[in-house]
Amino acid sequence: MTSEYSPQLSAQSPPAVAEGPTRDRIIEQLHLHGLKPTHQRVRVAEILMAAPTHMTAEQILAEIRRGGERVSKATVYNTLKVLAQRGLVRQIHLDPERSVYDSTIVPHHHFHDLETGELRDIDPNDIAFSRFPTLPEGMEAEAIEVVIRLRKKRPAEV
Ligand SMILES: [Zn+2]
Repeated sequence: MTSEYSPQLSAQSPPAVAEGPTRDRIIEQLHLHGLKPTHQRVRVAEILMAAPTHMTAEQILAEIRRGGERVSKATVYNTLKVLAQRGLVRQIHLDPERSVYDSTIVPHHHFHDLETGELRDIDPNDIAFSRFPTLPEGMEAEAIEVVIRLRKKRPAEV
């Protein structure tokens, strides 16, 4: 919906050539959003913002620990909550058990794999509306976001 959008179309896309934002850029972003660039905030933002991506708190935690760092689950959860509250990342609630954090903060559409929980961005040009409801009195649309839930095709009957 804006030019900031950059689709992350599939897990099979070639690995992003460009590195994510530099550490300096992330620190600057944190400042811009009124956040002190603590070590944990920088670390979590670095992982999540390295490329347009969707990650759960558990995946981010695993990534930090893979780097040999010791960090508690609560710290990662709290850090994500703060980053989302300040608009650096978006928290998407699709599954009550598991929030996914999206590094693309402009509204956009998703495929949601119900089996794996994976989210993938849909190219905005691939969706068009032929009909749109009248909005309730006094309201305007802030964003339109479509979620297409996916499941494996059922095998044909034998
Ligand atoms: Zn997304």
